Amino acid sequence: MASKGVDYYKQAAARALQWHAEHIQKMKKCRFDTIAVHGIYSMQEALDFNQGSIVEPIYMSTSQAYRDSDEMEAGLGYQIPTWCYARIANPSIYYMEGVLALLESYGSDVDASCIATASGMAAIQSASDQFLVEDPKRPNAPMNFVATCQVYGGTFQQFAIRKEQERNIEWRRIINSNDMSEWESKIDENTRFLYGEMPSNPSQAFFDVKKIVDLAHKYGIPAIFDSTVATPALLRPLEYGADIVVQSVTKSLFTSGFGIAGAVIARKNLTSNIDNPEMKADFCAYLKKLPNRDNGPNLSPMNAIMALNDIRSIRHRMDITSRSTMQLANYLKDHKHIEGVDYLGLEEHNLHQLASDYMYLVDAEHDAQYGSPVNRYGHLMSFRVKGGAQKTRDVFDAMQRIWRATDLGRIKSVATIPAISTHSQQGEEARKQANIPPNLVRLCVGMEHPDDIMADLDQALSVLDGKKVTMTFPEYSAGGASSARIG
Ligand SMILES: *Cc1c(COP(=O)(O)O)cnc(C)c1O
Repeated sequence: MASKGVDYYKQAAARALQWHAEHIQKMKKCRFDTIAVHGIYSMQEALDFNQGSIVEPIYMSTSQAYRDSDEMEAGLGYQIPTWCYARIANPSIYYMEGVLALLESYGSDVDASCIATASGMAAIQSASDQFLVEDPKRPNAPMNFVATCQVYGGTFQQFAIRKEQERNIEWRRIINSNDMSEWESKIDENTRFLYGEMPSNPSQAFFDVKKIVDLAHKYGIPAIFDSTVATPALLRPLEYGADIVVQSVTKSLFTSGFGIAGAVIARKNLTSNIDNPEMKADFCAYLKKLPNRDNGPNLSPMNAIMALNDIRSIRHRMDITSRSTMQLANYLKDHKHIEGVDYLGLEEHNLHQLASDYMYLVDAEHDAQYGSPVNRYGHLMSFRVKGGAQKTRDVFDAMQRIWRATDLGRIKSVATIPAISTHSQQGEEARKQANIPPNLVRLCVGMEHPDDIMADLDQALSVLDGKKVTMTFPEYSAGGASSARIG
């Protein structure tokens, strides 16, 4: 039998790629909700390849079979679109990546790509470590990166321990992220990227995204943003020129809480002072083909499809939960046992005006209910209880509807005390810098009716009036005893 030849497969692949590119262009013209619902999966694809399945199938398979040695050679040489082996790529994961690339670049002409990772932390590592390599042009030069210190606790540890302490890469910390001169004063020729989280978790720091992007580009380096708290339904940094966005998909995107997932979304042709043309041309494709293939922080296909299924309703969920959070913030700020509420939606918040320039419900102007742009500030807020750490714990322990858990973005309301949980490892000094006092409670509002959450907060705060709240939990939960746990 005569061999078909590698070229035969390359030509077939070129036609398939053309078809896919045209389909993605068609989807790019749709509204946000339509993209969220359909992503890049089409009837054509369902009928041609997936037995008509109307939802994206979960391909649990580890690897792909090839028709012959020519196709295998073309595939493994990355000469044709292929997924090879699920550590590198997988059709189910591809569907999730496709929808996130479109949502993060929505409303702009930015050409973006996405790579899914096993967690938000893996996304942050994947996004940052490519720039923390030795520059062949300047061997042995020291390296640094400039990043806000008001970041998620895990990010703090990754920067402070894994990068700075273990690898001697200096983290130049930005204390007041809204102070542009502080940012600029920390950049030098050895700075590899600027990194910021906004709104920050838990303290609601916010900065001028566009100005940070312009500053990064002035020095020829990329601007990387953790946009987990806003989600693409409320803010899309790529539109303002950002090079890379990281998402802990685990949170609001994957609201059901069935798993951990992350994503890196990057514009094509990003800015960097590292001499690596392939990386700059298509950062996510590069990550997929090389570093992440070798390091293996890949997502499970099961989690990809479950996350994707939740992503379909992200705009509506962020609208409803933002409205509920606004209502609860207004209730709490006047409460006699509350020292203060941190929520960007409150007019008295010092960053309210700035946040209002950036945080909008996407497509509100095309929505029959609104018909014009509306600000939405998300569903994460924090409040400080009067009377110190113990009183804060008393209130927290009395919550009955709001779940005590170190989590956010859930369809259910969840609260935590960051100083003893998410931000316990970084120590008191760093918590002070990041503005996380021991009486701070972080509340992430879910899709319950806000009246019921308000009632729960009300009864929990009433313990400070001496009211006894009794809850009946078994001594030790049977589930806890039978499952794996730490300690
Ligand atoms: C949770 C979180 C992360 C880490 O994500 P994982 O999926 O838990 O690894 C990063 N950034 C922010 C803002 C987060 O809330």
